[in-house]
Amino acid sequence: MISRKSIEEVMERARIEEVVGDFVNLKRRGSNLTGLCPFHHEKTPSFSVSPTRNIFKCFGCGRGGDSVKFVMEHEGYEYPEAIRYLAGKYGIQLEETQADAETLLAERERETIYKVLEFAWQYYKNQLHNTEEGQSPWS
Ligand SMILES: [Zn+2]
Repeated sequence: MISRKSIEEVMERARIEEVVGDFVNLKRRGSNLTGLCPFHHEKTPSFSVSPTRNIFKCFGCGRGGDSVKFVMEHEGYEYPEAIRYLAGKYGIQLEETQADAETLLAERERETIYKVLEFAWQYYKNQLHNTEEGQSPWS
C-alpha cells in the first residue's frame, strides 16, 4: 500500500494545469485555463482548469475534480495507479507500507482454503480415473 504521507506529497506537488496540460492544449483566460474537453466531443472549449483551486471542470459534460481524478478518468486508472503515474511525473519516491496484519491473515487463510480444495480435487479426480467405481459410475 502507498503510505498516506506519499499520497499527500503527490497531491501537494501535482499542479492541475501541468497534469491536464500533458493531454489537453490549454489557453489562459483570466485566472483560468481553457481547452477542448477530452471527455466529450466539442468545438468550442468548455473545459476549464483553475490553477488557484487546483481543479478542473467541464461545463459541457460536468466532469471535474483534482489531478488524481483527471488521470483516473483520462487514462482509466485505479486510484493507486493514478498516484503512481503522478509520482513518476514529478519524480516522487513513493513510500510503500506493508499490508496490515489483518490483510495478511486473510491472505493466508485464502491460501489454506485453496490448498484444501486442491487436495480434495486431486482426491476425487483420482477416484474418478483410477478406481473401478469411478470408471463405471452407471453400474
Ligand atoms: Zn466535457
